[in-house]
Amino acid sequence: MLIEKYQAKSLIRTSKRSPHHIHLNIYQGCFHNCSYCDGKSDEYFMHDDYSNKIRAKINAPDLLEEYLINKGFLPINREKTNTLLDFMPQSKRKKISSNNPKFIINIFGNICDVYQPAEAELEITKKVLQIAYDYSFPVRILTKSALVLRDIDLIKKINQDTFARVAFTITLSDPHEQLIFEPNSSSTNERLSALKKFREEGISAGVYITPVIPWIGDTNTNLIELFQQLKDAKAEFVITGGLTLKPGRNKEDFLKIIDEYHPELLVLYDELYRNNSIYGQPEMKIWEKYKLQNPIKQGYHMSKEYGINFYEPRYIPEGTIRTNLEIATVLSRIAFLMGEIYEESWQKAFEIREAAIELENYSSDISLMQFEEILSLPFEKHVFRHIIEMLQTGKSSYLIKKEDYSQLFFKIDDFFSKNSSSLR
Ligand code: SF4
Repeated sequence: MLIEKYQAKSLIRTSKRSPHHIHLNIYQGCFHNCSYCDGKSDEYFMHDDYSNKIRAKINAPDLLEEYLINKGFLPINREKTNTLLDFMPQSKRKKISSNNPKFIINIFGNICDVYQPAEAELEITKKVLQIAYDYSFPVRILTKSALVLRDIDLIKKINQDTFARVAFTITLSDPHEQLIFEPNSSSTNERLSALKKFREEGISAGVYITPVIPWIGDTNTNLIELFQQLKDAKAEFVITGGLTLKPGRNKEDFLKIIDEYHPELLVLYDELYRNNSIYGQPEMKIWEKYKLQNPIKQGYHMSKEYGINFYEPRYIPEGTIRTNLEIATVLSRIAFLMGEIYEESWQKAFEIREAAIELENYSSDISLMQFEEILSLPFEKHVFRHIIEMLQTGKSSYLIKKEDYSQLFFKIDDFFSKNSSSLR
């Protein structure tokens, strides 16, 4: 493995679709070298030797700090700042820091694992976590490495101050298969033990079973074992997703591994991904021909069986408009059930999802608006039905019916009773 340290010009990625998050790619390239890795896709213009030449943004902590300072935030948790802050009590420090809404710092990216082996030596991720703590920001981490345990004390401190979540991607329970597809990451057992440890420490932690690899990872044996292990480790959530193979390096690398270790499946994969979709999606006609299961539905139903959430419980950052984000979260859930699970209407699900994104970005509190104002928002009629119902009752009958929840996944009743007078 060759590590090339460099001073990066940029680090932070933001998106209108996820306005209360920022994303960081601290490294370029990933020594874990998973055969299905989307980071290898040509669209990211990564260097050829993606898995052996790791480019490390050694100034990532400085770039993050600069970004937070530019937004007006202060290092209120830092012990020594050599500024007037040092003479202020914690409560006062919080008050003079920016009133700008906070956001979640997602310490992971699509072109690297932030706890890959280079991190053991360079400790850039650890320094980034320290900046998040100093500036009192919540974090989300996603990794395939038990090296994250090295930073557990710091992650605990962040969690006590604001919020921290550690998610793992886990795909295969069989150690032999896991080594074939993820040759350099921590083993599945190591990841599960790390998950358990975080849960024991009271930290939110769960698992992405992505990708569920057709004919290999979608077997009952694999999924039942994984779900049982997740239950035993007290995973807070699990989310499953399918395999995408984008034309170019992503698909070629995967097929090379199939050819070497499962040659009998090569012809099937060739057929399944012969459409060369730019998004890497399999061809649905072929999917149906082989009676493959929908990995999202399969995971959703198993999550019910094992009593694990099939969603990440939402953390709402300080300074954001709580009402809007809570309603937006419910809308996203409705869209997910309507579109992905019950396949009632893709169009309606799409419109509800878009309304949720709109609401996430909206700068006025919807529960304080006049009824007419709410109705003038650019949403479809059927979307309003859900929003108005939530505003008036604090509940979503769709969600209760479909998920058999007696209450939503967060408590919204309080503010509705407080603000109901503004609803005319
Ligand atoms: S750990 Fe993630 S980023 Fe690294 S090779 Fe595997 S899938 Fe790609």
